[in-house]
Amino acid sequence: MRVCCVSRTNIIDVGLTDVSERSGPDACPGAFQTHSAADGAVARIRVPGGILTARQLRELGHTAASLGSGVIELTSRANVQIRGLHGEAERSLATRMAAAGLLPSATHERVRNILASPMAGLDGQGLIEVAPLVRELDLAIRSRPVLADLPGRFLFAVDDGRGDVAALGADIALLPPSFVLIAGQDSGLRVSPEEAVPVMVAAAEAFLAERGSADSKAWRIAELPDGPARIAARLGGHAAASPLLQPGDGGVATVAGKQLGALAQPGGWTALSVMPPLGRLSAAQAHAVATAADTGDGEIRLTPWRGVIVPGLTWADAELWLPRLADVGLITDASSPWTGVTACTGRPGCAKSLADVQADAIRAMAGAGARGAAEALPVHWAGCERRCGRPSGPAVLVVATGHGYRVDAGGRSVSCTGIEETASAISTTRTTADGPAGTTEP
Ligand code: SF4
Repeated sequence: MRVCCVSRTNIIDVGLTDVSERSGPDACPGAFQTHSAADGAVARIRVPGGILTARQLRELGHTAASLGSGVIELTSRANVQIRGLHGEAERSLATRMAAAGLLPSATHERVRNILASPMAGLDGQGLIEVAPLVRELDLAIRSRPVLADLPGRFLFAVDDGRGDVAALGADIALLPPSFVLIAGQDSGLRVSPEEAVPVMVAAAEAFLAERGSADSKAWRIAELPDGPARIAARLGGHAAASPLLQPGDGGVATVAGKQLGALAQPGGWTALSVMPPLGRLSAAQAHAVATAADTGDGEIRLTPWRGVIVPGLTWADAELWLPRLADVGLITDASSPWTGVTACTGRPGCAKSLADVQADAIRAMAGAGARGAAEALPVHWAGCERRCGRPSGPAVLVVATGHGYRVDAGGRSVSCTGIEETASAISTTRTTADGPAGTTEP
């Protein structure tokens, strides 16, 4: 058996969340069940495998511009969000998403959370193509009425064998050549990729059955006592005691921070890999990406690292489009100081926030010049101590305090009052600290 690019000796602890105090189902937003935020409603549209057509991305951009804040937010599950919806805009958004083929099921829309290795088939490193399996899994989920009861936080992953998305904490993951991971733990089950979808769906059904029999309010398998073991046993497997992969194994940093620009594909084609600053893709940027994709396969892949990949271009078209994408403000070079910088919603979208962290991050980054960050720690800005969206693994955390920011990294904290002081503290700690471990949140 082969586990690509991963260490089987790295072990992490998974604490059990106390779910007894929960009052009801999870409140993850969808296109119909939106989330009410301080700046209007937020709709989340699931994009299984992160795979979109150019036409769909263009429609997302038009919808964000005409109904919402004008920005498509990319999420850590390669889904998209549109915020700032008011009044009739919510219903109009659902209608437009359905017409674009992005809402094929009203009953199952929130449970189509499927991660897939974004570079599968593009760099010769994986073992399988993931797109057909993603489509098969999506269809299988939607065809089972019982799976509409899955929580919106439940997550599937289809890895191509390199271990990138299998390391991201999915409830059920396929890791070729034959592993089925349950809450990150080896289930003991071995399947070929062709046999995988029925097993993954059966594992999801087993979670619902196990949750029902335990009268639990768990949203994730890891929240059930002995969840991975119990579900593996229902399927005839025997779960290992510890997770197989470490968060960050399988090249999260590599994919997020280094594979930007024009990437050679097998067969002489080229893929463009870009990132919008802070994962916020403007309508104009979406239009530019979609137009570039029209010259290739017409396909776009969103990554769990809030990046965008446009595959299937000729080298000449790639040379033409890379500077154009840079001109509209997309990050096209891994040495950009923007690489690895993220921020929570902050003000005005989140009422809990003590600062407009996205605007402050932009101000701080304006002074970052060409310092370069390809080898530096990720930086995450947060408007309060909840630190939503902080990355897995070591990171510099920049937390609003109400009178400035606190910069946390490697067990040290620096309190700062102004943006310049904060930017300086980030710059110093980013390249010198072993930051604190974080936890990826949906
Ligand atoms: S970290 Fe705090 S301010 Fe930021 S989105 Fe979460 S709750 Fe809101």
